Amino acid sequence: MTQWLRSTLLTGRLTFDSSLLTLRKELQDCAIVHELLHAHAPNHGKLWESLMRAHLGEYERLEAGLRRVASRARLASAKAR
Ligand SMILES: [Zn+2]
Repeated sequence: MTQWLRSTLLTGRLTFDSSLLTLRKELQDCAIVHELLHAHAPNHGKLWESLMRAHLGEYERLEAGLRRVASRARLASAKAR
């Protein structure tokens, strides 16, 4: 989902990109919870949505915020090349 977290299902290890620390705390929480819940729900189906809502409340606004930040980062990266 994000450029900030990459999970390796084979090892069960989550790797956090240090750029995650530049985000607002609520966006950091959303990105981390998003990835952690994939241990229980591998896709973005109803179970995953339900777990996201249970942990973060109305998480859709946060997910939209993460997408905006990721989009801006991709644009900045493309311009730097
Ligand atoms: Zn996901």
